Amino acid sequence: MTSTNLGLPATRGSTPPDPARPANPALIDKYGRTATDLRVSLTDRCNLRCTYCMPEEGLDWTPRAELLSDDELVRLVTIAVHDLGVQEIRFTGGEPLLRRGIEDILAAAAALRPRPDLSLTTNGIGLARRAKGLADAGLNRLNVSLDTTRRDRFETITRRERFDDVLAGMAAAQAIGLDPVKVNTVLLRGVNDDEAVPLLRFCVEHGYELRFIEQMPLDAQHAWDRGEMVTAEEILKALKAEFELEPHGEERGGAPAERWVVDGGPATVGVIGSVTRPFCGACDRTRLTADGQVRNCLFARTETDLRGLLRGGGTDAEIADVWRDAMWGKLPGHGIDDPGFLQPDRPMSAIGG
Ligand code: SAM
Ligand code: SF4
Repeated sequence: MTSTNLGLPATRGSTPPDPARPANPALIDKYGRTATDLRVSLTDRCNLRCTYCMPEEGLDWTPRAELLSDDELVRLVTIAVHDLGVQEIRFTGGEPLLRRGIEDILAAAAALRPRPDLSLTTNGIGLARRAKGLADAGLNRLNVSLDTTRRDRFETITRRERFDDVLAGMAAAQAIGLDPVKVNTVLLRGVNDDEAVPLLRFCVEHGYELRFIEQMPLDAQHAWDRGEMVTAEEILKALKAEFELEPHGEERGGAPAERWVVDGGPATVGVIGSVTRPFCGACDRTRLTADGQVRNCLFARTETDLRGLLRGGGTDAEIADVWRDAMWGKLPGHGIDDPGFLQPDRPMSAIGG
């Protein structure tokens, strides 16, 4: 099949995938999905070393010259909102609070029209100090990652003594009105798999909204083992033994979490069965790495370089078109259960979780 001339500016460095992409300004793919949710990684660096994410010695961080500057990043975010129909932006990493310019980036994103919804996924370190500035800059909500209610286990899992900082960060975010603070938890076999109930109790008591995430094959060490993974089903079984869980009743849509009302409400809990209950069919995400590569999926094995195009003098229209091509090539699913599944070259911390 030949590609159609859409009357759009010529693109560089990409062959339009087959079948030809229709003339639609949005980030559509061949399977009927439209990406409106952009995940932006602000850095691949981190101040924790969660065992399921990266090795103790850290990783070879991306050299500064390869990272998008704040201005470059804001330009790409602007194209995403103005030209490509992105409505929500989540900043992540690595640890996004390690990026000095995050407040300025948030403020620039908040000034866009239509104004995108702005959220953040953070490990919570430094949040106590920065929550107000983030909220003032335009942040709407955030997720803080916490895998245990026990200090000793926190240190085992993250290899750092920062438990109190994380708790203080969560409390500060809530106090400043970044409500509800959502908590991301990964349960690991033999490490914290007995904490589904205590974690939910802790979150209900504090007014935080807990969501469990199945461990995915995205660790830098390639140590993920399907047989060892704590499944969504196991987590729900443990919770149902202690709490009354009623399905929340909302459409799951592109939202990965299946949510339950806890003991009649108002508290809810979510379980993200990324591996055993994939939501790829409704995925509405597009991803931008800190070094300016577009990924159409966490598990994609290819990336599309926007940084080179941008630094080479590409126009907004050209960049938008290359981004559209990248999304048109999105596969129907993550393929974790396929016999030929290969983990992406980059770990989650470098893609942006
Ligand atoms: N550093 C920030 C944090 O921890 O919240 C943001 C980046 S981190 C990669 C984003 C989320 O991905 C965290 O909630 C973390 O627990 C989760 N995560 C990391 N590696 C994972 C894996 N292999 N499977 C599932 N979730 C993972
Ligand atoms: Fe850092 Fe987040 Fe990975 Fe933990 S999960 S090492 S906090 S990027």
